[in-house]
Amino acid sequence: MTTSANELDERAHREFARYGRTRVYRGELLRHPVYTRFLHWSVAIFFVLSLLTGFAIYSPWLFHWIAPLFGGGPRTRALHPWFGLVFEVAFFFQFLNWMAPMAWKEADRRWMRRVRQYATNDPPGALVEAALEEVRLLEKLDYRDFKISVKSSSVPVMIQAYRRLSEVVPYPLHLGVTEAGPAFTGTVKSAIGMGSLLVDGIGDTMRVSLTADPVEEVKVAWEILRVLGLRHKGPVMIACPSCGRTNVDVLDLAERVEERLSGYDEVFEVAVMGCAVNGPGEAGDADFGIAGGRDAGFIYAHGEVLRKVTQTALVDELFGEIDAWIAGGMVRPQRKTRKLSLPVVQAAG
Ligand code: SF4
Repeated sequence: MTTSANELDERAHREFARYGRTRVYRGELLRHPVYTRFLHWSVAIFFVLSLLTGFAIYSPWLFHWIAPLFGGGPRTRALHPWFGLVFEVAFFFQFLNWMAPMAWKEADRRWMRRVRQYATNDPPGALVEAALEEVRLLEKLDYRDFKISVKSSSVPVMIQAYRRLSEVVPYPLHLGVTEAGPAFTGTVKSAIGMGSLLVDGIGDTMRVSLTADPVEEVKVAWEILRVLGLRHKGPVMIACPSCGRTNVDVLDLAERVEERLSGYDEVFEVAVMGCAVNGPGEAGDADFGIAGGRDAGFIYAHGEVLRKVTQTALVDELFGEIDAWIAGGMVRPQRKTRKLSLPVVQAAG
C-alpha cells in the first residue's frame, strides 16, 4: 500500500488531535531521528566487523588477508568478541526501538511539509521551509545577526522563494542565481532574477555567479545596480538599436562613445541616437546626447539642443561638452523628464 505525503500528514494531524500522539506504521514514509540512525549504523558496522574478524580467526586461508587489517592475529582475536558484543547490544536496542510506537513531533511535521512541497511541485515553498527551519534554530539560540539566502539555479524558483521569504522574516536577504552559467546566459539569468527582486526593494546583498572570470561577476553585479539606479558608478550609456530611419552608423558611433566613456569615473548619462526623428527624445532626456542626421548631427546637453555639427566631429564635440561640464563642477539642473535618479548639483546663485 502506498500512502501519499498529504494523506500521511492529514492522518498524523487527526491522530494527534484524538490521542495526543501519532503512530507511525512500519513500511511508511518515515523520518528517522538521529538516535535511530545511530543504532542502525552501529548494527550494520559492528556486524560487518564481527564477521570479518570471525573469518580471519576461523579460516587459515583468510587469516593472512584479514588479520593485518586489525593489527595482527592476537589483536583480531581480542577484538572479535567485543565487536560481537556491541553488535548484539545495538541490535537489542534497535529491536526495542522498532517495537515502540513513534510519536510525531514538530520537527517531523516540518519535514513532512518539506517533502510535500517537493512532491507537489512547490520547490520555492520547500526552499522557504528549509530556510525557516534554520531561522528557528538560530532564534532559539538567540542569534539574530545573519542573512538568509535561498538561491536556486532556476530563476522563477528563486524569485518566488525570495518574495515569499521577504514576507515572513525581518532578516536581510542575500540574493543570487546559483550556477547561472557562462557569461552571456549567466548575465541574463542574474539580471532577470536579482533585478526583479531589487526593483521591488527585496534584497540586501548579492552575488553574481558566472562560469567566467570573477572580475566579470563584479562588473555584472555593478551593472545590475546601476541600471536600476540603486548605485551610481561611472557613466551610463543609452544607444538606439538602429532601424530604417538611421542616418549614421550607430554601431560604430556607440562603440567609439563607449570606449571613451570607459575612462570616466563621474556619474552621468549619455545617449547615442541614430536619427533626428525619435533621437531627440532620448538624447534630450540624458545629461548629454547626440542624434545623427543625414550629413550632420545634433549635440544635446541637459535637455537642450546645443548645436548642429558634422558627423565626423560629433564624438569630439560631445566629449568637449562633457569635459567642460565636469571641469565646471558637474552642475546638473533639475528636470522633470529624467528617468534615472542621478545626484543633482544646483547651479550657484
Ligand atoms: S532613434 Fe531613430 S534610428 Fe534609432 S531606432 Fe529610433 S527611430 Fe530608428
